[in-house]
Amino acid sequence: MTSISITTPTPKTPAVDAAGRLGIPLAARADQLVGSVIDSSTSLLAAQTHDIVRFAMGSPADEAIPVDEFNDIAGRMNAGTLGYGATEGEPVLIDQLVQYLGTTAAPTAAERVTITAGGMQGLDLACKLFINPGDLVIVESPTYTNGSATALSYGAELIEAPMDDDGLIVEALPELVEKAGRTPKAIYVIPNFQNPSGTTLSLARRELLLELSTKWNAVIIDDDPYGLLRFEGEDLPGFQQLSPNNPLLFSVRTFSKILAPGLRVGWVEADPSMRQLVIHAKQAMDTCTNVPAQQLIAEYIRRGKLDDHLGSLKGVYRERKAAMLTSIERHLGNRVTTTDPDGGFFLWVTLQGEDAKVSTSELFKTALAAGVAFIPGPALSAGGKFDDALRVCFASSTPERIDVGVQRLTHALDAARDG
Ligand code: PMP
Repeated sequence: MTSISITTPTPKTPAVDAAGRLGIPLAARADQLVGSVIDSSTSLLAAQTHDIVRFAMGSPADEAIPVDEFNDIAGRMNAGTLGYGATEGEPVLIDQLVQYLGTTAAPTAAERVTITAGGMQGLDLACKLFINPGDLVIVESPTYTNGSATALSYGAELIEAPMDDDGLIVEALPELVEKAGRTPKAIYVIPNFQNPSGTTLSLARRELLLELSTKWNAVIIDDDPYGLLRFEGEDLPGFQQLSPNNPLLFSVRTFSKILAPGLRVGWVEADPSMRQLVIHAKQAMDTCTNVPAQQLIAEYIRRGKLDDHLGSLKGVYRERKAAMLTSIERHLGNRVTTTDPDGGFFLWVTLQGEDAKVSTSELFKTALAAGVAFIPGPALSAGGKFDDALRVCFASSTPERIDVGVQRLTHALDAARDG
C-alpha cells in the first residue's frame, strides 16, 4: 500500500458509450459515473444458483440483524409514521441517537445531526456541498470506491495517497499537494478499520490531518461506518472529538453496519452553520429519509437494545476475524500477507511470491465458480491498482463457513497459478 499518483478523470464508460451511440443528450457529468463493482456484486451473487461463501459484500451477518424486535416494532406503525417527515430527520430518532452517542466515545449534539438515507447519501451531500468540477480530492489508496466515485460524479480530480498499517500516511500529503501544484478541496478518509484495508488511522496522524485541513482550508470527509464496532484495543478520539466545532469537518455515519443495511438510514454530523445547507441539499434529493425505517430504529434504541446488540456483534466479529486469520494461515500460509484489524468487517489480503503474478480480477471468476466471492483489489482503488490484492469480509460468515471459503479460495488460487 505505498504507491503515489494523481488520477485524472476516467475515460468514457461502456454505459456512456452505449447511450452516446443512440444520440441521447447526456449531461457532461454522466461521463464521470464509474459504477460500483462492490454494489454490482449483490445482483451478481443473487443470480448464482450454486453454493457461494460470501466474503464480497460488507454486510452484517444475517443472524446479527434483530429481526424479531424489528417485526414487533413494525407492527405498531400508524398514519403518522407513514407520512412525510422532517427533512433533518425524525426528532425522536435524533433525540435517541444523540442520547445513545452520549454514552460512547463519540458524543454529539442534536443541532449537528441530519438523518440521511444511509452513509452513501451522506457522501453525496458532502460532495454536492463542497466539490466543484476540477477540485482536487485526496483519497486513500486503496479506498471505498463508492466514496471516490461520488466525488468523481461531481467532477473531482482525485489524488491517491498511500497507506500503511497506521492508515493514511498523512505525512506524505504535503509532497503530493506540492506536486499537484494546488491545494485539495477535500480529503476523504475512513479513520477506523478502513474499508477495504482494515487499518486504523493513528492519533498522531489524526492530529496532523486536522492541521493540514486548516492550513489548506480543505474539508475532511470523515467516513466512519465501523467506529462503533471496535472489538480489540482502545477507542481513539474521532476528528469531531479532537476538534470540536470545526466547520471543516463533515462526518458521515450509518446504521447499515450496526443494525441493518436495507433500512437505508444514516446520519451526518457537521457544524450547525452547515445544517440549513445540508437540509436544502437533501430537499433537492429526497425530501426526507424513509420515516418508518427511522421510527423502527428510534424505538429500538428507546427500548435500550442497541448497547447489548453492539456488545454481542463485537463478540461475534472478534471471533470471526480470528477464524479468518487462522484459516488463511492454515490454508495459504506465507503465500499471502494480511492486515489484522481491531474492528469492523474487512481484512486485506496481498498475494506474495509466485502467487502475486495472479490477477485477482481474473481470480474472482475462478473463485466464484469454485464457490467463494471476494472483491478484487482494483475495484477498491481509484486508479485501478492492487491487482495482487483482495478484500474479504469476515463479518457475514460463521467460522465453519469461513474455513470452507478460504479452502475454496486456495483451490482457485492453485488453479490460477498453475493454469
Ligand atoms: N462508507 C463506507 C466506508 C462503507 O463501507 C459503506 C458501506 N459499505 C458506506 C460508506 C455506505 O454505507 P450505507 O450502506 O449506509 O450507504
